[in-house]
Amino acid sequence: MRGLIELKKDKLKNIKLIVFDLDGILVPRGTKIKQNGNITTLETKKIQKEQIKQIRKLNDIGFKINISSGRGMYMLQNMFREILDFASLTYENGSATWFKGKIYQHINSYDYLKKIIFELEKIKDSKIKGFEPKEFIITIHCKSRVKKIEEVASKYRNLYYIWNGEAYDIGVKNIQDKEHGLKEVIKLFKIKKKNVLVIGDNYNDKELLSEVGIAISADKTRLEGDYYVPLEGKSLPGEVVMRHILESLGK
Ligand SMILES: [Mg+2]
Repeated sequence: MRGLIELKKDKLKNIKLIVFDLDGILVPRGTKIKQNGNITTLETKKIQKEQIKQIRKLNDIGFKINISSGRGMYMLQNMFREILDFASLTYENGSATWFKGKIYQHINSYDYLKKIIFELEKIKDSKIKGFEPKEFIITIHCKSRVKKIEEVASKYRNLYYIWNGEAYDIGVKNIQDKEHGLKEVIKLFKIKKKNVLVIGDNYNDKELLSEVGIAISADKTRLEGDYYVPLEGKSLPGEVVMRHILESLGK
């Protein structure tokens, strides 16, 4: 992997769409969630005004913008309210995309997940913080890994589970990931994968970063890419990458 500094203007000439992962890229990692009986408390993070400005600038100079996150749509809509006129939101690890008020569903995971959810809800473990509200995948926040969750998920051969250090994402193997979401998004925009620049930082971005025009990893220890940008430091990787792109293009 090369440092971001080596990503030069000529490499960007084929790029038409910029895809951002959210957590660890545009907002810091870490979700505050608490579940007490039927009461779920979930913190909504705010995108800094400066990053919204940067995204708007990228759109102004001709880039399409896609946010691809494991989070639910209600949350993404809230976070990107100011730029919904042009930003598309691909949510729950590629399950569906919201664009200009229309929802494009990419997978029907209901049959795959309808049994396991009951089993997972029965697990009692003090490490479990809560289930994040989701429509197409299952996300369980935990203080650390929970063996019983992994045992239950492993029984279902069609399903994957990803532990990202703060939560488990459970979804359908090979058809419910960010890459499949991206395939639908590029169809919608009538472009090719080589026209896409992606920036991600975590295990659920692995497929997303494969075979795109430019793949940028914000965590070398978790993710391979063409370029990397350090996750540590005061600035978020999204900010650093946008600044680099805008400066490279003299904007
Ligand atoms: Mg992330």
